[in-house]
Amino acid sequence: SSLVVAIDGPSGSGKSSTSRGVAGRLGLRYLDTGAMFRAITWWMLAQGVDLTDPEAIAAHADEPQIESGTDPDNPTIRVDGADVSVAIRSDEVNAAVSPVSAVPRVRSRLLELQRQIIGAGGIVVEGRDIGSVVAPDAPVKVYLSADAQARAIRRAAEAGGDVAATQDSLLARDRIDSGRATAPLVLAEGAVHIDTTPYTLDEVIEQVVTLVEA
Ligand code: C5P
Repeated sequence: SSLVVAIDGPSGSGKSSTSRGVAGRLGLRYLDTGAMFRAITWWMLAQGVDLTDPEAIAAHADEPQIESGTDPDNPTIRVDGADVSVAIRSDEVNAAVSPVSAVPRVRSRLLELQRQIIGAGGIVVEGRDIGSVVAPDAPVKVYLSADAQARAIRRAAEAGGDVAATQDSLLARDRIDSGRATAPLVLAEGAVHIDTTPYTLDEVIEQVVTLVEA
């Protein structure tokens, strides 16, 4: 299938669960581009790259080898052969990923990998700039949002931890992700906006499947 389903939105909007659910229902592959930005950030932290220095980040952006799995039932990500699926969800990575993602060299490197994986299609791709930059011609584009409190409650339930602290960390990332000059989080042209606050996961999956089948 040549289908590409682009799913964008802020953290905790239900992007990952929705994207995986839609891919599973429709027999499509799945790509989590946030995991790729997290993986490169994890590697830079491990290497001791100075993350306050965009030039240092850019200078090392091509070094780690990043491999993304595309099975919606078992999403994995490897850096230089090591599975970092769990390590990329740490507080350290949460705090560092937005500034790393704002460096153009990081984005262009990952964009190339993302386009290779998307290839001929048959995939649900989630991120921040999928409908606007990575796959602007995707026939189905969805923008998911939810109230900040609902997002924090969901994230804290998934990751463990305090709701108030989780909400602070989400909002800090939102501010950087929407305010940055490179690839700010925007509602892409042609995207359908779903505010998921009042819906269950299954209801949101159903809405997206309906869009795909329309
Ligand atoms: O989706 P997730 O919260 O895992 O993404 C982590 C971070 O990666 C985001 O806060 C954002 O800074 C960055 N990101 C991005 N572009 C994407 C996906 C994620 O800049 N397509």
